[in-house]
Amino acid sequence: MLMDFPFFRNNKLLYFDNAATTQKPGVVIDAMSSFYARHNAPVHRGVYALAEEATILYEDARSAIAQFIGAYPDEVIFTKGTTEAINFVASSWAQVHLKAGDEIIITELEHHANIVPWIRLEKTRGIVLKYIPIKEDGTLDYAVYLEMLSEKTKLVSCTHTSNVLGSHTDLDLIIEHAHSVGAYVLVDAAQAMAHSSVSVQELNADFLAFSAHKMFGPTGIGVLYVPRHMQSQVEPYQVGGGMVYSVDFHEASWAKPPQRYEAGTPPIAEAIGFKAAVDYINTHISFDDLKAHEARLTGRLINALQHLPVRILGPLDELKHSGHMVSFASENLHSHDIAAYLDKHRIAVRAGNHCAKPLHRRLGITDSVRISFAAYNTEDEVEQIIEVLFQFCNSKYV
Ligand code: PLP
Repeated sequence: MLMDFPFFRNNKLLYFDNAATTQKPGVVIDAMSSFYARHNAPVHRGVYALAEEATILYEDARSAIAQFIGAYPDEVIFTKGTTEAINFVASSWAQVHLKAGDEIIITELEHHANIVPWIRLEKTRGIVLKYIPIKEDGTLDYAVYLEMLSEKTKLVSCTHTSNVLGSHTDLDLIIEHAHSVGAYVLVDAAQAMAHSSVSVQELNADFLAFSAHKMFGPTGIGVLYVPRHMQSQVEPYQVGGGMVYSVDFHEASWAKPPQRYEAGTPPIAEAIGFKAAVDYINTHISFDDLKAHEARLTGRLINALQHLPVRILGPLDELKHSGHMVSFASENLHSHDIAAYLDKHRIAVRAGNHCAKPLHRRLGITDSVRISFAAYNTEDEVEQIIEVLFQFCNSKYV
């Protein structure tokens, strides 16, 4: 599989920063450059054949991604990524419908992308922001969640998979109970899409956000899933060309979704690359096999790290069974020093707070090292990083 990715032909390194962004298979790069070389034209506007071709390619991409998550094409709104998708909901739904005193519940696990938009509403609109706490092992305290819910709860916005701990949220429980008090649910699936199958039908969430670049696709594109039952409540995020039904000097009305939600020239080549990434996943990855593979990598790494003087974060039993990343912290060494040592050995890992400062604070640390896997990582690569980490620890008192 590694050889499907030109990056690994050009770089001799072990890449373990997949939770930040994945490498791209050749088919994604080829699809994008072929679009520019052969089909480049604006979508939805031109009356010439080439523009029609570009429009078909762009809309085919939407259909493929919709099929990947079990949605209707008009429920798939292209955004710049997960961050923009969450900001979209904050601006175009929450800011429009919520009033002072209404409550939004998130969790202590969240990435800044799913914290800061809600803090802004707390400051500007008097929305009350509540956090589901984590327990000692990093799992969410669902008993506290159930106590928090009331008719004041309007939105629960939570991660599918933590980008620091790698643990999974019990979304069935979250969604069922949120709906029982009339609240809507936004799921941040940024860390899920390259590792497990996500069906919006089974999930029954009211919004779903994810990014192409974390699932072998290009940067600059992601999805906000807005189901048909929510579309009458969601205002356009931006207004301008491409999203109107009619415009006069002082009046404008909106086109139907999905165009209503995509003002301006969209990321056409990126959508085509995104489709190629989804096709690649569909043809090369079985999520059941991948889960078993990643559990082997994660289990081996955790077992080895347990012999080093570091604190491994998160619910280890769960991670050994279904994780795809491992984060750890050292009392004596900054994560940047560990990452710099690994980098000298041509091993790329993430160090710092991973855009999850509140979670690190809650865990009583400022930073951690994160080793995150994708389908192309191998057991041999894990043995290599373990060896280098042991060398490092033998040379320092970690
Ligand atoms: N949510 C989670 C859980 C993430 O891991 C990330 C990125 O690391 C984001 C949101 C933000 O994604 P993007 O930077 O692609 O918008």
